[in-house]
Amino acid sequence: MSEVYADVIIEISHEKLDRSFQYRVPEELREKVVVGSRVLIPFGNGNREIGGFCIGLSNIPKIDASRIKPLKDVLTVERSKKPEEQLVELAVWMKQHYGGTLIQSLKVVLPVKADIKQKEERLIKLAIGINEAEVFAEECRKKHRTAMERLVTELIEYGETDYSLVRDKLNISMTTVRALESKGIIGLETKKLYRNPESFEKSEEQHARLTDEQQRIVNDFSKNFSMGLRQPCLINGVTGSGKTEVYMEMIAEVVRSGRQAIMLIPEIALTFQTVMRFMRRFGDRVSYLHSKLSAGERYDQFLRASRGEIDIMIGPRSALFTPFPRLGIIIIDEEHETSYKAENMPKYHARDVAIERARLADATVVMGSATPSVEASFRAMRGEYRYYELKHRISDKGLPTVYTVDMRAELEKGNRTIFSDKLYSLMEDRLRKKEQTILFINRRGMAGFVSCRKCGHVSKCPHCDVSLILHKNGKLVCHYCGYEEQFTHVCSECGSKYIGTMKAGTEQIEEAVKKSFPGARVLRMDADTAKNKNDYSKILSSFSNGEADILVGTQMIVKGHDFPNVTLVGVLAADLSLYTNDYRAGERTFDLLTQAAGRAGRAEKSGEVVIQTYSPEHYAVAASAAQDYNKFYDEEIGFRKLCGYPPIEHMLKVLIEDKNPDSAMRMGKILAGISQESSPEKIIGPAPDTLSKLKDVFRFAVYIKDSNYEKLVEIKDNCEQWRQSNPVGRTSVQFDFDP
Ligand code: ADP
Ligand code: ZN
Ligand code: ZN
Repeated sequence: MSEVYADVIIEISHEKLDRSFQYRVPEELREKVVVGSRVLIPFGNGNREIGGFCIGLSNIPKIDASRIKPLKDVLTVERSKKPEEQLVELAVWMKQHYGGTLIQSLKVVLPVKADIKQKEERLIKLAIGINEAEVFAEECRKKHRTAMERLVTELIEYGETDYSLVRDKLNISMTTVRALESKGIIGLETKKLYRNPESFEKSEEQHARLTDEQQRIVNDFSKNFSMGLRQPCLINGVTGSGKTEVYMEMIAEVVRSGRQAIMLIPEIALTFQTVMRFMRRFGDRVSYLHSKLSAGERYDQFLRASRGEIDIMIGPRSALFTPFPRLGIIIIDEEHETSYKAENMPKYHARDVAIERARLADATVVMGSATPSVEASFRAMRGEYRYYELKHRISDKGLPTVYTVDMRAELEKGNRTIFSDKLYSLMEDRLRKKEQTILFINRRGMAGFVSCRKCGHVSKCPHCDVSLILHKNGKLVCHYCGYEEQFTHVCSECGSKYIGTMKAGTEQIEEAVKKSFPGARVLRMDADTAKNKNDYSKILSSFSNGEADILVGTQMIVKGHDFPNVTLVGVLAADLSLYTNDYRAGERTFDLLTQAAGRAGRAEKSGEVVIQTYSPEHYAVAASAAQDYNKFYDEEIGFRKLCGYPPIEHMLKVLIEDKNPDSAMRMGKILAGISQESSPEKIIGPAPDTLSKLKDVFRFAVYIKDSNYEKLVEIKDNCEQWRQSNPVGRTSVQFDFDP
């Protein structure tokens, strides 16, 4: 019998070792090893035992067979071969597309097996009748035992629930659970998760009859899917238009045909309610991932998927790599969310990787959003994606009423407070009616741009169309090209002295609210009060329990949660995000304002929104006030065309980091020179990055622009090749496409 050799990538993220090495597969391991297996190998002269990934198998030795060492062990078994192979192929594609080492990509797509302690799953059930439980919940409410009340209320609604979900999403400790158990209110069961057949039956008859708008989309999808057409789809649907219901119907269709589904949801929007909604519909064939899972727990979930124990995986970006044997659909909800882009190498975007994964698996990608990214809309307009719209909210109240208030006019009237007269009177009204208000302060890009409170003028770079940033030395600096000018304390447009950086933070607003409305109960949510996910869900659930009248917060509060009693949303400083030095500023502003407005009037009561701004005429503000996505898109794509920004042209950012700024600059110049050889349309830099120094490491960036994406990939390859054949040193180089 001929020998079998495995091509193995070493599990060390070192550019020099980013190639495969051949190992002989001993007889006894042949059954176990497949492409994608994690293996143990002897490495180097000392035969140090280290880990690696098998990326190929063959019968042909590449070097003298006697010099090939044998594999020590195969660490992963129990995997069906096909999805693993696809994932390895996907990793190769990611390395090619986003740069970095192959091992970095492999680590992203293949979860590493950690010590698996077969964790017991605990199920919590009511041990008393519903009526009794309601009485008990009422008692808890009176005694302010909010955690107990939350849990019991949840159980009244859903019957039973998984403990880990309770802990992560309702933020209830095991102590509370034990206390309720000892009182005989609830019972704990182990290892029997969502297997109650009764609840499936109930759910089957429960789910909604689709509206015509929804049904048309599902029908078109089903027809194409059964014919084997796999074009990606984009659903543009206003908040509350029933997108999730459409996704569930599509998933049901795919699962009926014996295939599986991945449902991506941004971590922050991945709430207990959402997971429960899928579980009620699909029962125990659903699982979910979130960032709190340990490597082992995550591996367990992936194992369940590859063994065929589940059909649907819900989770953030990383759920994309669930090794389903017959993947049929990948859904990307809130497609515009920035968290779909990875921050570390490889800096991949879930949308593009999903499309490649779907291509390998013969699956369909479905994206949905109330404010689709300009990129996705652009591709849909070009016919690359099928495009669907859901224009109506399911409930007949329609969208909230939006008022735009020009704060320059307020100042002229003599109103120097942060509340416009309109917002003030509506807040008073809500307090009287015992309805809730959210005050949202748009702080994205607070990093020191200078604006005039009288005319709204913002100091901009004459060369770059981005705002200048005020530095401590009194200079206004462009972070793109390095242009500087002296800050004069006087508005260059109108001569007013009311000019400076915007300082109103959440804390000041909270104080202002307390001063203006002494009787109101106020909660604040920002990076200080919500340091981790626990604080975050604690604040949200206490607001949702009616423990406060007004919630003040940053963009953290506009996502995910539904507050049925919120009927007023005030947006303070709507323009702050317009002047970040980023070509996506308009898009971010439109998203934020639209999503913030979407928080008002989600249930029976209809809502009102006040947008306070210094630039009511800016198209991103005007379009979000009119809740008109198409108007926004037309203006925005015009701007991108004019300036040659993505998605019209593509951009490669090469980020160079070094403790020594001279070395970084030198490397920047070399890489810019290498880029020049491919003659792209434009090269900018090297110049200090927006974040020019981080933890004493200097950062420089080279931007390369070209309408041909492939040319940028070629430039990246050339740069990497040069780095491979030259001493690595301590300079780090990272690539980011369409940053
Ligand atoms: P989106 O995901 O677009 O925000 P959802 O799917 O969450 O919208 O739907 C909003 C609300 O309307 C949910 O409470 C959902 O249960 C309900 N809903 C959705 N579709 C229907 C329908 N066809 N009939 C009745 N209610 C529906
Ligand atoms: Zn001015
Ligand atoms: Zn500039």
